[in-house]
Amino acid sequence: MHKIKVEDKEFEIFLENDTINKRIRLLGIQMNVDYEGKCPLFIGVLNGSFLFMADLIKEITVPCEIAFMRVASYEGQSSSGKVKELIGLPENIEGRDVIIVEDIVDTGLTLTHILKTIKEKKPASVSVSTLLLKPSALKHKIEDLEYVGFEIPNEFVVGYGLDYNGLGRNLNDIYRATEI
Ligand code: 5GP
Repeated sequence: MHKIKVEDKEFEIFLENDTINKRIRLLGIQMNVDYEGKCPLFIGVLNGSFLFMADLIKEITVPCEIAFMRVASYEGQSSSGKVKELIGLPENIEGRDVIIVEDIVDTGLTLTHILKTIKEKKPASVSVSTLLLKPSALKHKIEDLEYVGFEIPNEFVVGYGLDYNGLGRNLNDIYRATEI
């Protein structure tokens, strides 16, 4: 088993880059069908979604626009439960078909807050694409989760944009913590 250390913590390989990319290709195909004749606005949630967005957007063949926003709500290994302000949300959302691009949905608190704020701006439609979803950690019901890369167990993961205390975002594959 391929193991690595990020800061003080040991991780083992969980999803290889090739597996991730194959799944993203399928998500892209699905989106191209669903958004045919439209010009969706992809909004990536920084920092974690930057690699997912980069790989996903290369699969999109319909005309589209891209923006990023930021929300800080997570510290160390457990969700702090506090959602801070959304920063950098594009102004011109009214009437647009918005696709929110997330790295991971854990309790769903962050996404619930993002969806509420975006819907107040009267988009034509909103859907969510998340690379990872932890179904057993979900505490908030989310109806717009159209495009899920992988459903994973309630474990802490790192790599491919996801960090542990700021480190590990550069890893090509996704790793999971070997102990809690
Ligand atoms: P939620 O609000 O859904 O509980 O948490 C969402 C945010 O928590 C994600 O955008 C991500 O930043 C962080 N997060 C949740 N689970 C993990 C995980 O397993 N690994 C990492 N690196 N971040 C996580």
